[in-house]
Amino acid sequence: MMMHVPAWSAYPWLRHGFSERRGGVSTVYGAACEEDGDLNLGFTAADDRALVVRNRAVAAKALAGETPVQLVVAHQVHGTHIERLRGDDCRFKTADGRPLEADGLMTDRPDLLLGVQAADCVPVLAADTRLRVVAAFHAGWRGTVAGIVEQGIGRMRAEFGSAPEDLTAAIGPAIGVCCYGVGEAVETRFRETFSYAATLFEQRGGGLHLDLAEANRRQLLAAGLAAERIFLMDACTACTWLAGRRRFFSHRAEQGNTGRAMGLIGIAEGA
Ligand SMILES: [Zn+2]
Repeated sequence: MMMHVPAWSAYPWLRHGFSERRGGVSTVYGAACEEDGDLNLGFTAADDRALVVRNRAVAAKALAGETPVQLVVAHQVHGTHIERLRGDDCRFKTADGRPLEADGLMTDRPDLLLGVQAADCVPVLAADTRLRVVAAFHAGWRGTVAGIVEQGIGRMRAEFGSAPEDLTAAIGPAIGVCCYGVGEAVETRFRETFSYAATLFEQRGGGLHLDLAEANRRQLLAAGLAAERIFLMDACTACTWLAGRRRFFSHRAEQGNTGRAMGLIGIAEGA
């Protein structure tokens, strides 16, 4: 149900996981029965909202047990806005009352669970293991080329005084370079933005492929994180579907008709 970063078990206060497909109650995306349904964590148009609510409760319980936690999920817009969650007043809305629209969330408050949704896009989790601060970012190609992860680490430094050497990050399951064919316009955007862009693209089967996970790893390195504190889940969301294994949701492999996984991170109080 959840992938974890083995090295992060050294931090008992740190709750985290990348959700997988099995273990929920949704059946709209092809799961045979509710007993082993899909853990769809996104309020997608096709799925029953009540089932997604149950799935979200299952995911929260998997990470926090019986401790009540507040799952915070923003409306994602492939941008670079990052919201710092300070307290009850802004859990789901911005200070001026609008719904939370962001592709990054961060907090130092315990018993919140920050969630970013993905179905091929890259969920990136980060933690300051000295100050006990956590963050989650959603990085599709647009967010990646806009630098959300590098900016997000910058925000952690600015908001909390995080030092890069105290930061660790995990890059979740996402569409791999094996399956992520892109057009030349995408490559052009990357080349205009990153000096290392050439290392992110490969010719495969006559087409241009982008390594989105590596692109985000480069941003974490550029932001000052040590290479050995950056962890890659190294699983392609599209391959597993095409191979007939129901392990992840893949927007591309399933032609858009799919659910959403989440990268989840939070702070356990008193641990
Ligand atoms: Zn693949």
